[in-house]
Amino acid sequence: MITLAKNPAPAAEYRTLLGHTLACAACRAKAPCFTRARLTRAWRAARVPWKASR
Ligand SMILES: [Zn+2]
Repeated sequence: MITLAKNPAPAAEYRTLLGHTLACAACRAKAPCFTRARLTRAWRAARVPWKASR
């Protein structure tokens, strides 16, 4: 089971993603954005620790 509430790690990644979506014209227009895709991938990677290579 995934327990998101118990994982504080992705806070920084999420803040970066959120900050981008607020500042990016493409994201605000809900248009495809490569930067958002990359930040989302980084956020998901941080959200799923067992996927990250150690
Ligand atoms: Zn964007």
